[in-house]
Amino acid sequence: MTMDDILTGIKKFFFYYILRKKYFREGHCLMCGRCCEKIYVKHGKNVITEEETFYKLQKMHSFYSSLELIGKDENGLIFRCKNLDTETRKCKNHKKRDNICRKYPQEEIFMMGGDMAKTCGYRFVPIYTFKEILKKIKK
Ligand code: SF4
Ligand code: SF4
Repeated sequence: MTMDDILTGIKKFFFYYILRKKYFREGHCLMCGRCCEKIYVKHGKNVITEEETFYKLQKMHSFYSSLELIGKDENGLIFRCKNLDTETRKCKNHKKRDNICRKYPQEEIFMMGGDMAKTCGYRFVPIYTFKEILKKIKK
């Protein structure tokens, strides 16, 4: 076993068992702006489906003031961010953007039934492969 294998093993253990993550995030932002024009809002464990809930949230968190409702699908209400410049595809509030934007994307997206834009430069890779998990269960 090499030093690289040991370090990878420690990293996997830390992310999986301490941080309780299932995926490593890889890649980088390509600034396509797609994640700013189809946004679901999660409150508690669920994606919001009622406009009333959203208006209450707007009073509690400044980020929500930047969102405008554009539709609804089987997951819930869909918003776009007014800070997205539709011509340049850049954020007009980049330096002061909210933490939600800075941390995007997080793996919770999948847990709430969402998906990432096909143009996104990030991808999520399982920390442990199916084969590795099966091996652990058999031990
Ligand atoms: S504030 Fe900027 S980065 Fe955040 S959703 Fe809006 S346009 Fe995107
Ligand atoms: S969808 Fe992905 S690549 Fe595009 S702006 Fe959002 S984080 Fe960046």
